[in-house]
Amino acid sequence: MTIYHLMGTLRGTDATEAWIVDGRITYHPPSSGIAPQQRGTLFRGWRRRPPPPPVVSDARSDVVVDIAGFIYPGLVDAHTHPGLSHRPGAVTDTEIVRRLTMCCAQGVTHIREMGAQRDVAAITDPESAGYVPGLPKVIRAGRHIARPMRYIRYLPVEIEPRDLPAEALRQLARSDGWVKIVGDWIDRSEGASADLRPLWPCEILVDAVAAVHEAGGRVAVHSFATDTIDDLLEAGVDSIEHGSGMTRDHLVEARERGILIDPTARQMATFPTIASHASKYPVYREHMLAMDAWRSEHIQLMVEVGSHFIMGSDTAEDVGERGMAVELQCAVGDGMPASVAMAAASFDGRRRLGLPSWEEGSPADLVVYDRDPEAEIAVVAHPAAVFIDGVRF
Ligand SMILES: [Zn+2]
Repeated sequence: MTIYHLMGTLRGTDATEAWIVDGRITYHPPSSGIAPQQRGTLFRGWRRRPPPPPVVSDARSDVVVDIAGFIYPGLVDAHTHPGLSHRPGAVTDTEIVRRLTMCCAQGVTHIREMGAQRDVAAITDPESAGYVPGLPKVIRAGRHIARPMRYIRYLPVEIEPRDLPAEALRQLARSDGWVKIVGDWIDRSEGASADLRPLWPCEILVDAVAAVHEAGGRVAVHSFATDTIDDLLEAGVDSIEHGSGMTRDHLVEARERGILIDPTARQMATFPTIASHASKYPVYREHMLAMDAWRSEHIQLMVEVGSHFIMGSDTAEDVGERGMAVELQCAVGDGMPASVAMAAASFDGRRRLGLPSWEEGSPADLVVYDRDPEAEIAVVAHPAAVFIDGVRF
């Protein structure tokens, strides 16, 4: 098997070099079966002078390839939807593979699927008969949970509020530890005065989050509105998706409680488009435009208070055109420092989601860039190499 010697700038660790051996990260130069004298022939820079001839004959025959550049633990798209269909029919296996392949091409080695009708485990679970190797690893969250007429058509399981705790547990059973709840959406039943409104009474939300926590799961909530956030904080949700309505006090409180914030910058930039389709709902339209007007200021406020960021593209069929590479460029374009965005997409975000990064023996899931994306964020669109379990893509 090929051994890779990682050099250059390793982001998220103090180490200056590492190796990929048998698909895992190690800081021990791979010497098993290789005589010390031989190492100099295998590793550029290992010795200053040419080494003496080998003295043992049982050396591993591994090829060692040097990888130099700006190397990060693989990116996590913390909000994408490979198994989501905007139509009545389910998305096909081929389409799921295509979407995940597009993620990989953008340096993404893990995704957190934030709600989908199709359970992608049939394709992404190594134990499954239909497993397709070489795709990013998936953390599933079951289906979106919403009330009737209170979210995007076809996407959610639709329930009455009293059923939220039980439904959250049902979706948890079809997930990898995350449940996705729609926290607020326009309530069209109010006619011309319709606006974003919370979907759930606070006490129901508190019960649902407690039930999921009790079962060992975590809760992510979609929220655009301001009025929903107090309830989310009280319920102790684990991640807030979008969070466009969060005030400074909300953001400070979320930071204090360790709640993850997924700013979905690219999705936030679509509010004027959403508003343009809302001519029947002038209050809502103005609300969306007002949030758009302070979009940059808001993401900078999130940075200023020290939010626990994870980065998600909020994509589905459009992940090739609008995936993580675009998300990171949008976030930086709106004023998030590139170092914050890259850390949140890579090692900081991975830690927040419970994924390993540079630990000895951890799976070698990495992305390599020729140039520094923190100097020029557009570089994220062109990874020089992506590794999943030490296999290069
Ligand atoms: Zn989404």
